[in-house]
Amino acid sequence: MSLLVVGTVAFDAIETPFGKTDKIVGGAASYIALAASYFVKDIHLVSVIGDDFPQSFLNTLTASGVNLEGLQIKKGEKSFFWSGKYHNDLNSRDTLETQLNVLETFNPVVPESAKEVDFLMLGNLAPAVQLSVINQMRKRPKLIAMDTMNFWMDIAMPELLKVVALVDVLTINDSEARQLSGEYSLVKAAQKIFKMGPKILVIKKGEHGALLFHKTEVFFAPALPLEEVFDPTGAGDTFAGGFIGHIAKSEDISFSNMKRAIIYGSAMASFTVEKFGTERLVGLSQTGLDERVQDFIDLVQFDIQLA
Ligand code: AMP
Repeated sequence: MSLLVVGTVAFDAIETPFGKTDKIVGGAASYIALAASYFVKDIHLVSVIGDDFPQSFLNTLTASGVNLEGLQIKKGEKSFFWSGKYHNDLNSRDTLETQLNVLETFNPVVPESAKEVDFLMLGNLAPAVQLSVINQMRKRPKLIAMDTMNFWMDIAMPELLKVVALVDVLTINDSEARQLSGEYSLVKAAQKIFKMGPKILVIKKGEHGALLFHKTEVFFAPALPLEEVFDPTGAGDTFAGGFIGHIAKSEDISFSNMKRAIIYGSAMASFTVEKFGTERLVGLSQTGLDERVQDFIDLVQFDIQLA
């Protein structure tokens, strides 16, 4: 099954209690595409970078099977740059700087080869860009999933709501769900967000896992307790990549399959946080992946006999 990934391909500078990086490769679409590449082979990317971006990372994407026809490279311009600093518990962070650079004038062009993909993952990006991509599709994908963040809620809520109205699945974190809905209770937040358009809501809660809401049903996937969490950047995007990747691979958009998908998403994210940037997502073995998924099964499996 084919998948189109839209989002940032970016430079990040990250500070965690364990260390600090200068500019390293990041961006929502980088994480999503790499994670999804373990599930689907036909992946297309729509994004934009400046001519300051390392060719070696583009080669890594291509080697992972990601088609870069829809990646615009702007001569003489700078790539999107984000820097963030994590608090001691690694569950929350402050954005220190966001330089939109090439994103400021980004006009996405979906290549012919990607206009009829089966699955569309709108990674975190300006809502106007996400909307333009949806409008360029020749036929509606079987499933459109979307990720976003408080940054866009703060500066572009009306455009954001237009995109939210068109998608099947929305993935956001708990504070963003509260901001979007105006509700503190995540159950109430989900019900309000369903009225905005999506049928499925995934609420990410960092080291406390993720909740999957559908109508009145709710399912929980834990995050794997890891000995060392080094850098949580990209965990949400990696989660989204594993989630949509599994759904695209299985061609099954039922709620019960989405439960499996959030486990796969969580398993992929558990790799990302072990190293800075995208490093850990490259070159994973199928055995390594399977073992991680088994860790999740072991973590939550129990027998109770009710009298
Ligand atoms: P996550 O940790 O999953 O929320 O995603 C972190 C990634 O999101 C980083 O690699 C950043 O480059 C990217 N990012 C940060 N802010 C934005 C933004 N406003 N729009 C799009 N991507 C962003």
